[in-house]
Amino acid sequence: PGMVIAIDGPSGSGKSSTSKGVAAARGFAYLDTGAMYRAMTWWMMHHQVDVGDAEAVATAASRPVITMGTDPSAPTVQVDGTDVAQAIRTQEVTSGVSAVSAVPAVRERLVAMQRDTIARARRESGGIVVEGRDITTVVAPDAAVKIYLTASAEARAARRSKEVRTDDVEATKRALALRDRLDSSREDSPLTQTEDALELETSGLGLQEVIDIVVGLADE
Ligand code: C5P
Repeated sequence: PGMVIAIDGPSGSGKSSTSKGVAAARGFAYLDTGAMYRAMTWWMMHHQVDVGDAEAVATAASRPVITMGTDPSAPTVQVDGTDVAQAIRTQEVTSGVSAVSAVPAVRERLVAMQRDTIARARRESGGIVVEGRDITTVVAPDAAVKIYLTASAEARAARRSKEVRTDDVEATKRALALRDRLDSSREDSPLTQTEDALELETSGLGLQEVIDIVVGLADE
């Protein structure tokens, strides 16, 4: 069966670009698990579920039909048949996603879906690159390659600002710091660094350099 490459890290660490680049280089599938938490959050908001109400979110968590396209050159995300690739990147969804992803019923369902996708890709695609917060620890702890990407707060804010096309790097830095805190303040924070994942500090590196390092690890 095909290889699993697991990549965790905070937002702005370069996870998505790196993961897509590695998957493309190796001809592997690609899964963005953050997009799944965002899709779940979008559905809750679209159906007037109060994302601050953990019980309401848990009750509704089984309802959205989330479909992920795993081609790294054109990844897609659909909810109930609707393309939500743009809709899940809004400020509104970004500010609600930490609360939704803290609900155990949400995590149970999405982790099960992620494991199914990984199993299918291992049979059909030769391998898969999976990015998120808990891939190296919970979703695929037996992955062949486990990476924890980091970057300085400045480098992360600069990258994210470019992605969302804003010049206000300071505001981006504050927003990232807030989401880091919301994501990590919970007792069962999804983002935990373990010793068996290799930490890769990317602040001074270009994208292609980071991709080459990860591909090199996969070739070992
Ligand atoms: O990666 P991205 O920034 O799109 O992730 C959005 C949010 O989804 C994160 O801030 C986090 O709350 C949640 N998430 C998670 N577990 C994952 C991936 C994302 O809890 N594996």
